[in-house]
Order: sequence, then structure tokens, then C-alpha cells
Amino acid sequence: MNKTIFERIIDREIPSSIVYEDDAFIAIKDIAPKAPVHLLVIPKRLSTRLDEIEDVQDMGQLFLTATKVARQHLGDYRLVVNVGKGGGQEVFHTHVHILGGWADGAALH
Ligand code: 5GP
Repeated sequence: MNKTIFERIIDREIPSSIVYEDDAFIAIKDIAPKAPVHLLVIPKRLSTRLDEIEDVQDMGQLFLTATKVARQHLGDYRLVVNVGKGGGQEVFHTHVHILGGWADGAALH
């Protein structure tokens, strides 16, 4: 099976700007940021979409990692997960978006 773009990033086959990495996750800067700070938290273990993750440990660890990485870069922020094509998902390797860095309140408008 062809690797996803994120597997290729994890395997260092294509470059990315890595802001965090441990045994189970990598966090990178989004190549086309939709906010002043736009990061992606990606589990190394492949699942195609969030609702494929059934293990409570895996699900919990994903969001714990996302909040940990977010707090390293931002005070307030938004976490977004696009699930399926109709939900705006373009890369079918589960990931959480961290978005932030707007001027006060700007994200709400
Ligand atoms: P999705 O729409 O699947 O939730 O989000 C996929 C995200 O991955 C998009 O925001 C897109 O800009 C980002 N992206 C796609 N290809 C690459 C890449 O090669 N490198 C990086 N850093 N981000 C990517």
C-alpha cells in the first residue's frame, strides 16, 4: 500500500518542520497555514481517520500530546479534527490541527 504523506514525513522521506517528536507522535508545522500558528499532531501508528481509533489509551494520548504541544507554543488555541472527505479531511492519516496565534478574539469572528 502506498504510504501517506505523513508516513513519508515520519520516515524522513520528505522534509518537514518538526516541532515535537516522541515514540508515538510527531508534530509538524502545516505547509499551508490557516492561522498564524498552525501545527499538526500525527500519531505514528497509522489510522485513516479519528473514529477508527478505538483504544481509549491511544485516543487519550493523542489529545494529551496535542494539548502539550499546543501549550508549548500558544496560550489559547483551537484544536480541529477533520473526519472524512465531507468533514474536510484531505490526508487520510489521522491528525489533530492546532491553530492559534491570532490577535485577541480574532479567531471567533
Ligand atoms: P486535513 O484537511 O486532512 O485535515 O489536513 C491536512 C493538512 O495537511 C492540511 O492543512 C495541509 O496543508 C497539510 N499538509 C498536506 N501536505 C503536507 C506536507 O507535505 N507537509 C506539511 N507540513 N503539511 C501538509
